[in-house]
Amino acid sequence: METTKRMMLFPFMAQGHLIPFLQLAQLIERRNGYSITLINTPSNIRNLRSYLPTSSSVHLSSLPFNPSDHGLPPGHESMDSLPFHLLFPLYKATESLRPAFTRFVSDALSLDPTSPLCIIADPYLGWTVDVAEELGVFHAFFVTGSERSTAIYHSLWTLWPLQWSHSDELALPNRPNVRLHRSQVTKLLLYGDDNNPIFVFFCRQIAHFCKSDGVIVNTAEEFERSGVEFLKEESGGMPVWAVGPLLRVPSTPSSDDTHIGWLAGHPPDSVLYVSFGSMNTISASQMVELAMGLEASGTAFMWVIRPPSGFDFKGGFREEWLPEGFEERMREQNRGVLIHGWAPQMEILSHGSTGAFLSHCGWNSVLESLCNGVPIIGWPIAGEQFYNSMMMVEEIGVCVEIARGNGNESVVCREDVERIVRSVMMGGEGEEMRRKAREVGEVLRAAVGEGGASVRAMDDFLRTALPTMAGKD
Ligand code: UDP
Repeated sequence: METTKRMMLFPFMAQGHLIPFLQLAQLIERRNGYSITLINTPSNIRNLRSYLPTSSSVHLSSLPFNPSDHGLPPGHESMDSLPFHLLFPLYKATESLRPAFTRFVSDALSLDPTSPLCIIADPYLGWTVDVAEELGVFHAFFVTGSERSTAIYHSLWTLWPLQWSHSDELALPNRPNVRLHRSQVTKLLLYGDDNNPIFVFFCRQIAHFCKSDGVIVNTAEEFERSGVEFLKEESGGMPVWAVGPLLRVPSTPSSDDTHIGWLAGHPPDSVLYVSFGSMNTISASQMVELAMGLEASGTAFMWVIRPPSGFDFKGGFREEWLPEGFEERMREQNRGVLIHGWAPQMEILSHGSTGAFLSHCGWNSVLESLCNGVPIIGWPIAGEQFYNSMMMVEEIGVCVEIARGNGNESVVCREDVERIVRSVMMGGEGEEMRRKAREVGEVLRAAVGEGGASVRAMDDFLRTALPTMAGKD
């Protein structure tokens, strides 16, 4: 008789992690014989439920978690719902989930000792490696970023402290061909400090990375050839399975979807979509320059806008954060739409009127853009976003970088915004980038199509993680 194989998936509490983990759960679900449980805190589980079709067999289970025990407002259990100063308390609070998670997995093992079980966890939940070891089950990390960027980021942590004294540029000692500018290194690492609890927390998580049994990555091998080997090396020779891109299927727009309706009123490839992801934002002065540059460029745009850094939504969006009369003027001219809140990103990117994406280069956004053949104007802000942008510019040729955030200090001027937006939306440079983005989109889609390399990698991962038990199947 066939034994049910159990997968326990545990994402970090941020949209850029929860969404791909749910995709991964659904991908495994399509193969028969797996019982899949996605674990998280109560409010994230409630939200995930709304994304999952009622017919799905994926179990959603919550671990007890009280935000106020960690200084967080009630119901705020995900990075995107918190202001910057409360991000670290949430990172830290994830460590408190360890006893409940251990109990959850150990109860599952006692209930059915014959069905094999595997944990797939987020690298930000590094301690799950220890739980797996304690309980004797297979453990894999699921990296929701790119192979190459994750490897660079990991190198920077393990090589810390690096000497920047002679120049603003530095080659990674273990990869001399990777040259970084100090504006591409997160402040936490540049000014790393053993007495800073945030720094120490990240060091702890990174140290767990190499102790897992393997790494699954949301990318395709053909797309990131240089990344596979680099990540393998970084992870101490662990197996690496590139199983992506894991993408949501855009929903069919309904007639009352105003954003999609607005896009439909514009010619093909004529609208610039602007978004800094689910939690990042830019400074108030950058926001004004971006608005002025967009207005001067003459391009139609759709901008997912959040309060600038240092502010939150309390009291609503303030007009003073934008040039006087900007929103009204853009609306009257049918030139631009500001989305205050959550945008249907996949539906926007897959719409024929969207011609480019001004993005913070979060990995999900990069993949969603390229799978839809949409080139990128990069404005990375934190973490590995700098290396995603760099790879898209230097290796893939589908991106031009407009600014870097890094503590929101980058000076951005409206003239540069106007010039770059015009060249991508109206010039030959944009046409060439769009052609390449479409080519890359085909490579990515082929990887997850029938017989594609990512499908084969998934087969191999499943065989390795939960081998058929001799005599049982
Ligand atoms: N997203 C969305 N609407 C928004 C903002 C974000 O649907 O208004 C989704 C986006 O499609 C992507 C994820 O949230 O799947 C963000 O992940 P990414 O890696 O791009 O950036 P992060 O938010 O993790 O920085």
